[in-house]
Amino acid sequence: MKKIRKPVICCLDLEGVLVPEIWIQVAERTQIKELRLTTRDIPNYDVLMRRRMEILRTHGIKLELIQKVISKMNPLNGAEAFLDRLRMKYQVIILSDTFYEFAMPLIKKLGYPTLFCNKLSTDSEGFISGYHLRQPNGKQKATQALKSIGFEIRAAGDSYNDISMLKTADRGILFNPPKAIAQKYRGFKLAKTYSDLFRLLDSPSQE
Ligand SMILES: [Mg+2]
Repeated sequence: MKKIRKPVICCLDLEGVLVPEIWIQVAERTQIKELRLTTRDIPNYDVLMRRRMEILRTHGIKLELIQKVISKMNPLNGAEAFLDRLRMKYQVIILSDTFYEFAMPLIKKLGYPTLFCNKLSTDSEGFISGYHLRQPNGKQKATQALKSIGFEIRAAGDSYNDISMLKTADRGILFNPPKAIAQKYRGFKLAKTYSDLFRLLDSPSQE
């Protein structure tokens, strides 16, 4: 008898896969070089976030200004069409370490796909005063949880914070990673364009 296959959910990283790195755009707009640091540079997310909050406060930059910058950003070229095509065939969930306060203008431009991410808090003056992860290692946990309720997970990401998600998924794909990551994690398939990525996500699973 033919085995019934599990339904597939594609889990995608946001920044570097569908939209530009938000903090790099903020760094350019505010001309604060130090804000260019991302998880590509500092793999420890807590260290990175504390550093960012410190830099913003030192330079007097409040959440509202960052939101203005983000609302002028656009998804990467072709991202919306890629996502539409993928969503016609699969359920898609975006798993990101960013924050709803940052991401929503970009999510709107992508046609409101489902996004699992985190929350920020601000102080009485409007400075970012804290960040609240739903749980540590949220991308990996979400992937694990979706597998536990009967889905096959195919995941794609570009950076260090995606590696545990890619390892947990039934299929993990690196999309346009920096050289160092591509060399360190040779076990993952690699996509450089959206058509490559679609093909790798869409190809039938090996039994
Ligand atoms: Mg990324």
